[in-house]
Amino acid sequence: MNDYIIRGTAADDQIRFFAASTRELVETARQKHNTSPVATAALGRLLTAGAMMGSMCKNDSDVITLQIQCSGPIGGLTVTSDSKARVKGYVNHPEVMLPPSSAGKLDVGKALDLGVLTVIKDIGLKEPYSGQTHLVSGEIAEDLTYYFAASEQIPTSVALGVLMNKDNTVRQAGGFIIQMMPFAEEETIAKLEKKIAQFQSVTSSLEKEHTPEKMMEELLGDMGMKIYDTMPTQFYCNCSKERVEQAVISVGKKEIQSMIDEGEPIEVNCHFCNTHYHYSVEDLKRMLEEAVR
Ligand code: ZN
Repeated sequence: MNDYIIRGTAADDQIRFFAASTRELVETARQKHNTSPVATAALGRLLTAGAMMGSMCKNDSDVITLQIQCSGPIGGLTVTSDSKARVKGYVNHPEVMLPPSSAGKLDVGKALDLGVLTVIKDIGLKEPYSGQTHLVSGEIAEDLTYYFAASEQIPTSVALGVLMNKDNTVRQAGGFIIQMMPFAEEETIAKLEKKIAQFQSVTSSLEKEHTPEKMMEELLGDMGMKIYDTMPTQFYCNCSKERVEQAVISVGKKEIQSMIDEGEPIEVNCHFCNTHYHYSVEDLKRMLEEAVR
C-alpha cells in the first residue's frame, strides 16, 4: 500500500497540518463505482479530505462522515472515514459527464453546483456532532475551507487534487489541510498565506516531487516543519453479507413478505463499495423470522 497521511506541525506548533497521497484509494473507488472522470475527481477529492479528517479523530471508534447534497448533475456525494483513515464513499450519479471548465479542467464545481456540506462526527456521544455549511464553489477544497472557518472557527487551508491519465485511470491524488492554532501570530499567518498563494497545485507537486513530505516542505520547509507521524490510508468498506442482511431485516416483515411472494432471489448493493449481495427465497424466509416488526 503506497497511500499515506503525514501529520505534523510548524512554526513552534502555531500551525498543524495533514497531508496525503491517495492515488491508490481513489483509483480503487473509480474501479468499484465505474466513475466518469469528473465524478472520479469529485469523489477522489472528498475521499482524500475524509481520510485526513478521519485521521484527526482521537478515539479508535470515532467515525466521520462528509455528505454533500447538491443541485448539480452529480446529485450528491457521501464519504465516511474511521480514525485509521480507512475511507469509503460514493456519488449519486457516477456516470455524469460535463465539458471541461474554461480553464480546461474537470468541472467539479459544475457537477456539484449549489448545495450543502454536512460533516457528521460520531465520537461516541449520545448524539453525533454535526455541522453544516453551504457550498461556496462546489470545488470541495474551498467548501471545506469555508466549513472549518464557519462551523469550527478554525482558520484552515484545504487543497485537494486528482489528476487523470489519458485512459481515465488515476495518475495522482492527494491533498493537505493546514490549520492555524488560536495563538498563531500575525507574522506566521502572513508568511503562510504568501506561501500558499505561490503554491501551484497538489497534483503538480505530487507529479514533480512524488510525496506529501516534499509537498509540505514546499509550503512549510522554512517554517520549522516537524512531521510527527505517518499513517497508511486506504479504501475500505466494512460491509458483509451478514451486515447487509441486517439492513434488509430492518425494512420490516411486510416488505420481506412481499419479496418472498415475488418468489425470486434478491440482489442488494452496498452503496459504499458497490458489492452485490444475493439472497435466496430461503434466506428471505429465515430473515422474515428474525424481523421484529
Ligand atoms: Zn460495502
